[in-house]
Amino acid sequence: MRQGGKDELALDGGTPVRTSAFPSVSNASGRTLGQEELDALRRVIESGQLNSTIGPETRVLEGEFADYYGIGHAVASSSGTAALHLAVAAVDPDPGDEIITTPITDAGTVLPILMQNAVPVFADVDPTTGNLDLASVRDRITPRTRAILVVHLFGAPAPVAALRRLADAHGIVLIEDCAQAYLTRVPDGRLAGTVGHIGCFSLQQSKHITAGDGGLCITDDPALARRMRLFADKGWPRDTDERTHLFLSTNYRLTELQAAVARAQLPKLAGVVSARREAAKRLTAVLEPLAGLMPPLDGGGMSYWLYPVIIDPDAAGGSCHDYAKALAAEGIPANGGYLTRPVYRTPVLVERRTYGTSGYPLCSPPAREVPDYRAGLCPTAEQLIAERLIVLQWNERYTDDDVDDIAHAIAKVHRAFTE
Ligand SMILES: *Cc1c(COP(=O)(O)O)cnc(C)c1O
Repeated sequence: MRQGGKDELALDGGTPVRTSAFPSVSNASGRTLGQEELDALRRVIESGQLNSTIGPETRVLEGEFADYYGIGHAVASSSGTAALHLAVAAVDPDPGDEIITTPITDAGTVLPILMQNAVPVFADVDPTTGNLDLASVRDRITPRTRAILVVHLFGAPAPVAALRRLADAHGIVLIEDCAQAYLTRVPDGRLAGTVGHIGCFSLQQSKHITAGDGGLCITDDPALARRMRLFADKGWPRDTDERTHLFLSTNYRLTELQAAVARAQLPKLAGVVSARREAAKRLTAVLEPLAGLMPPLDGGGMSYWLYPVIIDPDAAGGSCHDYAKALAAEGIPANGGYLTRPVYRTPVLVERRTYGTSGYPLCSPPAREVPDYRAGLCPTAEQLIAERLIVLQWNERYTDDDVDDIAHAIAKVHRAFTE
């Protein structure tokens, strides 16, 4: 019998492992914002040029980011969602064309597909990473498929080399959503975002680097780059002298203030990722021996936007939700399932809440058939969310003591659940 006190779960009235806050991406404690960003903002304010069509900051950021990734072109935009919309718009699907993507992701991956009147088709995921499963993607390809939009979930590399071969074999585009995957490396050593035709990044508050909001697309294809640039700026070809609008597009411009902050953040990125990797190694070493808990299978390329643990509920003595609840009581920021439901089970898709009452483009025509976003569509994804996926908040400012508290709490909960 467990007695009260240190070994008793905080959930049952025991002493929590941790009572002070962890460094968090939600405030200065877990962000790398400082004098460099203040100087950058002052520079822009004093220039009086806050808009990227006249100031230099956004164009320079694009050049710096492209160089950082060793790629031909970068195009800035106002958010990660906007960046993904740029990428989908560059593919230029016909209404009802299909784009294959993942059910475990931020809505910002999926909404741009609908905005551009294409149909999101969901493939299932790998049970050990939550990333798209190659065989499932292959099964979902139809004559209407125009692109695959893959996410490197939590910063773990998705199988993009194989997906690129698949895309090339079908003459379709591979878009990489790298919003959680700055400096993620795939097993062959390439940077995530450079394997597909287009890589998309976010500068939102919670990402590895931030300007509050913002987005960046990278590509080696000048035609795709030009189309993305035009789409973010009303189709206005500013490289000519003409005031004209070449195709339906919108204003997704980044401001000079945000670009200047992003430029100050970029030199800090490598340090952010390496600190997150070091802290992750320390936790992984403690979790590896615990029955039923699987830390990330990291070959060194993961960038740890969050730290996921996949659990076998039978061996671990509880579901991911049981664990998350017990860990939260111990003072450890943890979440069970990451999402409440797979993206295809949200009202926008299930109830086809798109344009008025039309349901467009989730109707036929233009779609090949009306998509059925039923429960059971992607069983592995559903099982991860319902039972198997714990995500721990992660940060470059975690000290060894912070990581040890997390490790201690997980071991404590595991002991209580399995004894
Ligand atoms: C954050 C995120 C987005 C959206 O980025 P925003 O800048 O918030 O629009 C898209 N995809 C993934 C995987 C994300 O984590």
